[in-house]
Amino acid sequence: MEWPVLPGHDDKKFDEFYSIGSESLVYVFFATAKSKYDDEIGKHIEYIRKLRNQIVHGISRSKISPSVLLVNILDTYTFFEGKDSWWDNLRNYYLEHPFNREMDQSELETVVFVEKLIYTWKRVGKSSFSKHFSVNTKARSYFCPFCLPEDRVLLKRYDYKWAFLFPEKENAKLIRCINCTNDNEVTRISCPLDNCLGTVIWEDHLCLTCGQDVSNELVEKKKHISGILEFLCSTATT
Ligand SMILES: [Zn+2]
Ligand SMILES: [Zn+2]
Repeated sequence: MEWPVLPGHDDKKFDEFYSIGSESLVYVFFATAKSKYDDEIGKHIEYIRKLRNQIVHGISRSKISPSVLLVNILDTYTFFEGKDSWWDNLRNYYLEHPFNREMDQSELETVVFVEKLIYTWKRVGKSSFSKHFSVNTKARSYFCPFCLPEDRVLLKRYDYKWAFLFPEKENAKLIRCINCTNDNEVTRISCPLDNCLGTVIWEDHLCLTCGQDVSNELVEKKKHISGILEFLCSTATT
């Protein structure tokens, strides 16, 4: 579409430019768009436009809570860019910021992100939150080997379990952390610690349910099982 300039004029100064109000802009866009768009896109944009106006223009008759805004922010990301896009964008905004260029996701950043996940999860609710991720976040959650803090005092203050097994079937062998977005292979064996019912072990030493290093206990358990097997074999051949 050409810029609206007078006949014989090639250009127009920005401060003289006639801006189209957002309501009309939506109509102009859909009236002139070359591609066909789903009705849902128009409805969504219109809803967000009105919501934005309630915030910007004066006092709204209806109460707008942070939860309503969060739900709509998440819905907009997922609507246009698909699952995981909200979190990917939020992380990238932080990690690609020039001030943070040299930073990795260290313990401090992990806490910052974990706080955002906890806040959003509590605000929008379990089911609504899960719609925006490619793994089922309504399922049991586990520690992530990369996000588990060395300073275990932090575990009392924050919920660090943001990793979920996938694909969703019995004995799933992969775990995805929605916080750091890493996928890891896991072994599905019982945690050898008496007070833990976990069955998800990473690299033969870390139980992702209790967060304990169980390498020694696993070696002992293997020795014990080998001993039993040897005994059974010897009794079977005699
Ligand atoms: Zn992680
Ligand atoms: Zn355990």
